[in-house]
Amino acid sequence: MFDTDTISRFKELETPFYYYDLGLLRKTLRVCKEAADKYGFHVHYAMKANFNPKVLQAIQSFGFGADCVSGNEVSKAIASGFDKNQVVFAGVGKSDKEINTALDADIFCFNVESIQELNIINDLAKAKNKTARVAIRINPNVDAHTHHFITTGLDENKFGINGWQLNDVAETLRKCTNLEFVGIHFHIGSQITDLEVYKSLCVRINEMQDWFEDKGFRVKVLNTGGGLGVDYHNPDTKPIPDFEGYFKVFKDFLKIRPGQEVHFELGRALVAQSAALISRVLYVKNGQKKNFLVLDAGMTELIRPMLYQAYMKIENLTRESASPQVRKSESESQILKYDVVGPICESTDCFQKDVELPESFRGDLFAIRTAGAYGEVMASRYNLRDAIPSVYSE
Ligand SMILES: *Cc1c(COP(=O)(O)O)cnc(C)c1O
Repeated sequence: MFDTDTISRFKELETPFYYYDLGLLRKTLRVCKEAADKYGFHVHYAMKANFNPKVLQAIQSFGFGADCVSGNEVSKAIASGFDKNQVVFAGVGKSDKEINTALDADIFCFNVESIQELNIINDLAKAKNKTARVAIRINPNVDAHTHHFITTGLDENKFGINGWQLNDVAETLRKCTNLEFVGIHFHIGSQITDLEVYKSLCVRINEMQDWFEDKGFRVKVLNTGGGLGVDYHNPDTKPIPDFEGYFKVFKDFLKIRPGQEVHFELGRALVAQSAALISRVLYVKNGQKKNFLVLDAGMTELIRPMLYQAYMKIENLTRESASPQVRKSESESQILKYDVVGPICESTDCFQKDVELPESFRGDLFAIRTAGAYGEVMASRYNLRDAIPSVYSE
């Protein structure tokens, strides 16, 4: 990701910033699109992972749809050129205003998360003399085997409609004159690296579609959600996730009816590896128990480690991956353990504890890798920090 020229370029720039490798992004998108096309699968990009305009532009240019979780995301998707017939809208707390935005935009489908929401969408659609297409988000009670902070498909989670409520759902759908049922939707969590989890999901999806068909509903769309994980530990060994293997699980284990569409909502897997947060060491504090590296970026620029206890690889670009001369001197320099922290006035503002790094100094350039998903989008102005800029490979 960082050749010598790129690092020389960084040296001229003020830090912190997000660096986007647009070549890697496009390569990732191409591999995913080709793997999905092979089976006729549809992918909606989960916009909440990253809505940087250049990223959206690249994704849209490959013909992906958009998975939105707010009215503003719906508007932005359409303004960015995504086809309204490929826009879906999920979320447990859609406001009336947001529902109206999506109705006005004539999006493909609302992924509905409660019976009350079905009734509200029906009322709002009726007031506009429209029909809203809806899919039912079912909570399948499948364990995603991921961090509990990012699990969404268990009974204890707030998302989706539980199995025992489905009779009421069917009754509501029959009563609601301004709703068109198009299918069923699932999303069980994020950063899923064990593909066996998706096999269990397929089993539940098959049961659910049988249930709806038995009740006389035609299930046109099976939306399996997203969640495919990336390798945060080895961002350079296999930067492109195994889209082939992922789609194949669904091809093999879903009972896909003739004419039925299978939809996916990938976020992280499409964008995570294509960006890094670039920062400089402000201070080196040698304590009695700990050595601290204080970076000029913190939780205001990248909150994943603090919010989800997420691991992200930290590299000293000045000493680890620069020119051969520097690399040579690195082998002579000693490896030390540091707590890598940010400048924000919160004790949780720590990227990682006890990181083994070559001895580091004020001014060294650091990269926090795999920062393209849930990075820039979560930046805040807390402590009245500057808004973080982006730098692109081209
Ligand atoms: C966040 C989200 C996704 C994408 O999740 P990733 O782990 O980034 O792939 C997909 N669908 C829904 C409903 C979501 O909320």
